[in-house]
Amino acid sequence: MYGPKNTEQVLVPVRMDLNTCFRFTCGKGLECYTKCCKDPTIMITPYDVICMKNHLGISSDEFLREYTTLGNIAGSELPVPVIKLLEGKEKSCPFLGESGCTIYEARPVSCRYYPIGAGLFHNKDAKMDENFFAFIKEDYCLGHDMGEEMTVQQWRENQGVIPYDEVNSTWTEIILKRKSMGPFINLPEKTLQMFFMGCYNIDSFRRFIFNSKFLEIYIIPDERAEQIKEDDVALLYLAYDWLKSTLYGEGLLEIKEMVISAEEAGV
Ligand code: SF4
Ligand code: SF4
Repeated sequence: MYGPKNTEQVLVPVRMDLNTCFRFTCGKGLECYTKCCKDPTIMITPYDVICMKNHLGISSDEFLREYTTLGNIAGSELPVPVIKLLEGKEKSCPFLGESGCTIYEARPVSCRYYPIGAGLFHNKDAKMDENFFAFIKEDYCLGHDMGEEMTVQQWRENQGVIPYDEVNSTWTEIILKRKSMGPFINLPEKTLQMFFMGCYNIDSFRRFIFNSKFLEIYIIPDERAEQIKEDDVALLYLAYDWLKSTLYGEGLLEIKEMVISAEEAGV
């Protein structure tokens, strides 16, 4: 989800796994400090939106409008927010301050992973999704081969990546499933809007749930309906269920009997 500045040169074609060891250090003492926050391409995941907008104390609508622009997930037409860089020669990330990242505790997962690029692919033989990691080596980044040796897993733990990967895992599953359908099936614009709202604009999805006929159509237990009023992650899990049910017919949300009867009667 991190786009290096020059993809021809910097992606080291070394496949890593959780136990691969590497040495890397980063910090204010390095001459390159914050160079990685200038002119990056940073895609925002569903859990990034929740953490960043809550850290900033704004709604997801405002966060997406002020700080992101629209991109596409590679190999699909599925939309993804991308951090909108400041205008000017340096094209800095809008969260870069005088002494570093101003939202460090809520920085996006791709900034946490850096200098590792993380992704997921579907292993057809093993019939499962597998993580892959690759090393991103950019000329200006001076932290390589310095500091203590650690594994990819230790890096993930140190950088607080694990909760992000957990909450985002169903999102990546939805993306992989869309990609496996191939390029000849086009998703309608309305479906892409549903995907965007459910995955990223969580406050808009909450309004949709409570101001539309959603709760008249689907059986949502009272406890879950109460929880999603305040809990963004619980709401995101409902969005995942809704998207998987409507996009792929997975039936994760039960439809009320009277809605089915009305549909059968052609009402
Ligand atoms: S070492 Fe690399 S990641 Fe750290 S500040 Fe320098 S350029 Fe950025
Ligand atoms: S969010 Fe923070 S760490 Fe990430 S690019 Fe922006 S300033 Fe740098």
